[in-house]
Amino acid sequence: MERLKSYDTGKPTLYLVPTPIGNLEDMTYRAVRILQESDVIYAEDTRVTQKLLRHFQISKPMKVAHEHNQTIASQWILSDLQEGKNVALVSDAGMPLVSDPGAEVVSSIRRHGFPVVCLPGPSALLTGLVASGMKVHPFLFVGFLDAKKNKRIQSLEELQFRTETLVFYEAPHRIQELMDDLYQVFGSRSFAIARELTKTFEEILTGNLEEQPSLDGLKGEMVVIVSGYEQPQEEITNLSIVEQVDLFVKDGMSKTDAMKQVSLLTGIPKNTIYQEYLKQSK
Ligand code: SAM
Repeated sequence: MERLKSYDTGKPTLYLVPTPIGNLEDMTYRAVRILQESDVIYAEDTRVTQKLLRHFQISKPMKVAHEHNQTIASQWILSDLQEGKNVALVSDAGMPLVSDPGAEVVSSIRRHGFPVVCLPGPSALLTGLVASGMKVHPFLFVGFLDAKKNKRIQSLEELQFRTETLVFYEAPHRIQELMDDLYQVFGSRSFAIARELTKTFEEILTGNLEEQPSLDGLKGEMVVIVSGYEQPQEEITNLSIVEQVDLFVKDGMSKTDAMKQVSLLTGIPKNTIYQEYLKQSK
């Protein structure tokens, strides 16, 4: 186990700085100060970040750290820190690393013993989830699904029996496809689409997937939130353990997963369910 203090280490620091997801007023005082005090700012796209810096009258050397240069960017950042420079890392919008590059950089810099400090701030994930009014705890952040239809369906099938509220990111041109795929795999479930969060045209659309909403022409950035799997209460209380396992197997789950699921739902240890299942299916 490694322990690394964030403050008062006397070492130069890498700061992960969240930036607004649409409303410049969401930039925190601390985020502005850290950018002002950094010696160099690594940005996903320097043109995007330049606009932000101009707004806050910050002028700093910038370098690029995007999805495709993580290894070399980690080396550049390491050299900067070794030269005694404080470094800030930002993405185009929101929290760096959340469906954005930076994970490789953070683990590499920490491995080399330099502190990495993450500032709290805007992210579409939590803003959308909380704005949806759906059950927040527990939630599962899925982010973007694959662009290929068969891979998307496969990922959704793997999530079919997850009981957590699910949170997806999606590009506007694929939102209809995502909603269609969600309905195809999940059937009847509540959903919310949090669109253009923090911007003038922000809106929250809610409904049930089975309405198969037509979203043609719906533009802007969107977070999609879908309720988790719910085993109907009546079925659960009226069925024996074996019948419950069989019900999930009938729905397409493997026997092992079905036993795990019944254990989760009933609180009965997995091993007891396994023994019971063996006994009764003899
Ligand atoms: N790092 C960002 C964050 O912390 O939310 C996410 C970056 S990811 C590349 C961009 C995706 O985030 C968009 O496709 C959309 O799904 C979501 N997103 C970003 N800004 C948003 C906004 N203002 N309203 C709704 N969704 C947003």
